[in-house]
Amino acid sequence: MRGISRSGVLVALVAASAIAIVVTGQEPDPLSVTAVKDGLYYINGVGGNVGVRVTDAGVVLVDDKFPRNVDAIRARVAEVTNQPIRYVINTHHHGDHAGGNVGFIDTADVIAHENARKNMIRNEQEAPPRIVYTDQTAVHLGGVEVRAHHLGRGHTNGDSVVYFPDLRTVHGGDLLHGTAPFIDYANGGSSQEWLGVLDGILALDFDTAIPGHGGLMTRADVEAFRDQFVAVRTRMRELIDGGLAKEDAPARIVTPELSWTTAENGLFMRRSIPGFYDEIAAEGQ
Ligand SMILES: [Zn+2]
Repeated sequence: MRGISRSGVLVALVAASAIAIVVTGQEPDPLSVTAVKDGLYYINGVGGNVGVRVTDAGVVLVDDKFPRNVDAIRARVAEVTNQPIRYVINTHHHGDHAGGNVGFIDTADVIAHENARKNMIRNEQEAPPRIVYTDQTAVHLGGVEVRAHHLGRGHTNGDSVVYFPDLRTVHGGDLLHGTAPFIDYANGGSSQEWLGVLDGILALDFDTAIPGHGGLMTRADVEAFRDQFVAVRTRMRELIDGGLAKEDAPARIVTPELSWTTAENGLFMRRSIPGFYDEIAAEGQ
């Protein structure tokens, strides 16, 4: 009903029975806000999932999508609280997660791992975070703790896992993905270290995870994600040991039992190859 109350005109024609005809003057906003736990929401739709932690002293956002999404993010947050957005934690530098910084950095403290800031500067992105950390940091706001952990290289070399300890929930950024992972080798990604990162996430006490893209995950979903990571690495190892040529890797990696290799007709996984091939080949030397 959001689009109706926001911008639509509700015309009720009363006939034998009441018939409501909704007239809207614009396309509905594609972003929606969904409750995760008491005081925690996420905004899905285009771009990375945004975590929204509401406290009595303000809001902590996790990621902020693209610049064009800033107004809609503010509107979705305003649907669940009157509190101002005080902090933004970027899970990593990619523009669909940190692009909205341009709209928040003048009114909120933006925080990220130091490598995420370096990546943003090297990639000439706007509004890099003013506050960085190395291993772990936390925001304490309104009696609530929001922790950021850097657990090693994975999706990039500057990933943060954001942990809400009182709610037993994590926001994994693109370290967790509803379709398949993308290993960004150009920005320090590593499949091998990613496994250790997933072990680090699983060492946290959580039952719910917000992935970078896709719907909410359970702890079992995260375990399955880790298991498929092991299986995909093993598959590549076996292919390389069998003499696989690099140019054949995108086709040969496809395995019906491994959903990542078939997602989007294999195109999704293909983005990580040939870097993935090179990484596994180098491990065997
Ligand atoms: Zn990403």
